[in-house]
Amino acid sequence: MDEENGEEYLFKVVIIGDSAVGKSNLLSRYARNEFNINTKATIGVEFQTQSLEIDGREVKAQIWDTAGQERFRAVTSAYYRGAVGALVVYDISRSSTFESVQRWLQELNTHSDTTIAKMLVGNKCDLEDIRAVSVEEGKSLAEAEGLFFIETSALDSTNVKAAFEIVIKEIYNNIS
Ligand code: GDP
Ligand code: MG
Repeated sequence: MDEENGEEYLFKVVIIGDSAVGKSNLLSRYARNEFNINTKATIGVEFQTQSLEIDGREVKAQIWDTAGQERFRAVTSAYYRGAVGALVVYDISRSSTFESVQRWLQELNTHSDTTIAKMLVGNKCDLEDIRAVSVEEGKSLAEAEGLFFIETSALDSTNVKAAFEIVIKEIYNNIS
């Protein structure tokens, strides 16, 4: 679609990772500045659209949430279709969710035919007392796989905006 000063940018970004790592809360924190203790409250949300300005242009990100499908290992190919960015999320207090990251990356690769800007996200960094995955482990996996890396807390808002916007800016840089 043309705007007065050029093209309009709309990027699809997907959030993936094991159940209960905080995917829905990262999105609700970013898009609406909301946090829910109750997981079920967010089920049913398909995607949220967020606008930001890059180089004086309006860029829109359509950010998709799994709405709980991952519990049944049945995230569909429609979910991934057309995605140009991804946040691969684990919970720093649960090692099993970090061990699943490789599987999520494989699934992402299987379903995509374009270059995808990827951010490895260690969420729940507010839970330092029960940390099970070190910052170094996160960093080295991200380096090995060619991903950006950040730790976030949807609870206290740490780095949530940065996690999404670094990905969106990378997508923009890839195409312009
Ligand atoms: P999803 O299944 O990956 O979408 O995870 P949810 O967003 O539904 O979150 C699962 C649970 O973790 C909920 O009880 C949230 O309140 C909690 N949670 C999500 N993000 C954080 C966080 O950053 N810190 C803490 N302490 N809890 C979180
Ligand atoms: Mg969810």
